[in-house]
Amino acid sequence: MNTKKIYATILLTASLFFAACGGHDDHTEHEDHGHSHDGTEGAHSHDDHQHTEFAKDPGPNGGRLITSLDPAVEFLLRDDRHAQLTFVDADGKAIAPSKQIATAVTGDRMSPVNITFASDGSALVSEQALPDTEGQPIILTIQSSPEASPVIERFNLKTYKCSGCGLAEYACICGH
Ligand SMILES: [Zn+2]
Repeated sequence: MNTKKIYATILLTASLFFAACGGHDDHTEHEDHGHSHDGTEGAHSHDDHQHTEFAKDPGPNGGRLITSLDPAVEFLLRDDRHAQLTFVDADGKAIAPSKQIATAVTGDRMSPVNITFASDGSALVSEQALPDTEGQPIILTIQSSPEASPVIERFNLKTYKCSGCGLAEYACICGH
């Protein structure tokens, strides 16, 4: 008698379990329909986001444009890992450096590397190659002239390509 009772209980439990599973599947399908609707709404707000808050001008060479300085300056990490500072006029055109000077500190936080810049006639170029460390923090100090107060720009030198704008992540103009 007892064995039969237990067997019946197992059957009942199993059928409840499968019923619950079936119900769960239906629910998931229903959620999927709802999800595609949500996805459309998400795309709308995403577009608004891009147009209103994150539209930025790229530097003339696809680098990071620093506008807290006048004239503005583009920071670019070249393929040879030297940093290049290109000054930019109000129309976004590159202009030769005049009296500007710059230094930087970068690399691992435990062993920072001091970087100095010298003019090559068309831009200020770092005299040292930057360490090959993905995402290293960099602190740039730039002065319009040796007498001017320094402008300090800090960011992480993330070099992977942004999927939104196709620029290096440190130079991203789309806010992704
Ligand atoms: Zn981007």
